[in-house]
Amino acid sequence: MKVQLFGAARTVTGSCYMIEACGARFTVDCGMHQGNKAIEERNFNTDMYRPEQIDFILMTHAHIDHSGLLPLMVRRGFSNPIYCTAATRELLELMLQDSAHIQEMEAEWRARKYSRRGLKKAAEPLYTVQDAVNTAQYFQSVNYRRTFEPHPGIKVTYYDAGHILGSAFIVVEATEDGKTTRVLFSGDLGRRHALIVRDPEPPVAVDYIFMESTYGDRDHKNEGQSDAELAEAIAYSHGEKVIIPAFAVERTQEILYCLHMLARQGKLPADMPVFVDSPLAIRATDVFRRHKDLFDEDATRLLASGDDPFALPNLTYTLRADESQALNDLAGPAIIISASGMCNAGRIKHHLKHNLWKPGASIVFVGYQGVGTPGRKLVENAGSINLFGEDVTVAARIFTIGGFSAHAGQHQLLEWVSHVAKPGTQIVLIHGEEKAQTALAGLIRERFGLDAIVPGYMEELELVAGTAAVATLHESAAHPRVDWDFLAGDIESKWGAFKTKLATIEQRPWVEQTELRERMMRMNYELTRLISGM
Ligand SMILES: [Zn+2]
Ligand SMILES: [Zn+2]
Repeated sequence: MKVQLFGAARTVTGSCYMIEACGARFTVDCGMHQGNKAIEERNFNTDMYRPEQIDFILMTHAHIDHSGLLPLMVRRGFSNPIYCTAATRELLELMLQDSAHIQEMEAEWRARKYSRRGLKKAAEPLYTVQDAVNTAQYFQSVNYRRTFEPHPGIKVTYYDAGHILGSAFIVVEATEDGKTTRVLFSGDLGRRHALIVRDPEPPVAVDYIFMESTYGDRDHKNEGQSDAELAEAIAYSHGEKVIIPAFAVERTQEILYCLHMLARQGKLPADMPVFVDSPLAIRATDVFRRHKDLFDEDATRLLASGDDPFALPNLTYTLRADESQALNDLAGPAIIISASGMCNAGRIKHHLKHNLWKPGASIVFVGYQGVGTPGRKLVENAGSINLFGEDVTVAARIFTIGGFSAHAGQHQLLEWVSHVAKPGTQIVLIHGEEKAQTALAGLIRERFGLDAIVPGYMEELELVAGTAAVATLHESAAHPRVDWDFLAGDIESKWGAFKTKLATIEQRPWVEQTELRERMMRMNYELTRLISGM
C-alpha cells in the first residue's frame, strides 16, 4: 500500500492521504489548507490530486480542514462515492455550502478590489455553492464498527473518534499478493470526558497508525474547570460584551450546553442575553438534535429528564446579516457566540472590531488557534491586530479556556497509544506543528518502544505489514525555495534608484514633497514591523 501526504504534514490543516492499493486510488479526507498565503496557495495547485482518477473518498469527520476540498474535486471531475457516517454527512452538507459561500464572497471582494484599482480579472472562487450542492449526491452513509468493501481487496471499518458529532477513525485493510496490511487513520482524536460526544474508542490492532498530534507537546490547562473559567470570564465583563469565537459545529453546542449548566447552577445572570450569531451554528445545532443517539451518558441522562441541553432562557439566534449588525449597537452586557473560531473569517471579525478596544469586554477563546490567524495573535497577547485593514488596539481581557478543546491533549494522546495492542506497530505522526510532533514522537519511542516518524508534505510512504515504512521525499516540489538573494537584490537596486531621485527632491513643490514624505513614512513603518517580526 502506498500513502502520499497531500496535507496536514508538519502542519495542522489540509488533511488528505492519497492511497494506492489493490489497483484502487482513494483518499482519506480531502481537507482545505488554511494559514498564510503560501499554505493557502496549495488549494489552487491541486493537479496532483487528479480528481477524475480517484475511486472513492473516506471521510473521518466534517471539519473543513478535512473536507473543504471535496467540492473542488467534484468541480474537477470526481464522481464516485464519498463514505462518511450519517451525522458527518448532514454536517458536511451544511459546512461545504457555508465554505463555498465564503469562497464566493471572497472572490467577489477580490473582484471589487481589483476593479477599484483598474485591474481586470481577479481569481475565480475556489468553488461555488452549486459545486457544494453537487457534492452531496456522492455521500454514502456508513455505520461505526460495520466493515465494508469499497473495492475488491480493500476492507474499511469506522470507529468513534470522540472528536465531534459523527467523527471517526478509520481502519483500512488491503490484501495484496496474499498479504494483508492494516492501517489506522486517526482523523482528529477527541478528549475523554468532553461534553456531548462519547469518549474515543481505543485503537485496534494494525500495522501502522497515522495519528494526529495537534497537542503533542502540551496538555489542556485546567481541564474539568472550563465551566468555572467560563463563569469567571462572564463575571469579569463590566457591562460590556463577552465575545466567544467558536467553531460552528460542536464547540458552539458545547458552549450552549455549558451555559445551560451554569444557568441551572445559578452562575449565569438570569437576565444575561445570549446570542448565537452564526447561521451555520444554528443549522448545526439542529443536526445535533437529530442525532441524540450519539450523545454520551451525561447528555443522554439530561435529555431523558426532559431538559434541552441547548436551551437558555435568554437565547437568541441571529440568522440574518442585519440582525447580526444590530448587535453592534446593542447597549449593555451580552454573550455573543460567533464564528469563525480562529477569527480569520465570518461575523466574529465585526464583533472583535466593535469590542476588542473596550476595557471591560471579554474575548473568550475555546479552541485551537492556527498559526498566522488573528485568534492566534490575540492568544499570544498581541497589543493590536489588523481587522479590515485597520489596526485595532486590544483593551479587552483575553481568556483562553483549554477544557473545551475537541482534541486530545498530550496526556490523552499517550493514553490512547498505550492501548496499541500489536508490538511493532509503526506510528506516523500527522496533523500537528513540527514542535508538537517532535515532542510526542520522543515520548512514544521512550514510553512504548514504538517507532514514530514525522513525514513531510508530499512525502510518499510504502507500507507493507511487518516492515518499517519506506519514504520517498519530494522536497523541491513540496517546499519551493524562497529566493532571498533575488528579493534582497531587487529591493537594493530600487533603493539605489530612489536615492538618485532624492537628490533633486527639494526642487519639487512643497505639497508634493509632503505627499512623498507621507508615503515614505508608511514604508518606514512597514519596514519597522517587518524587522521586529523577524
Ligand atoms: Zn477536526
Ligand atoms: Zn483537523
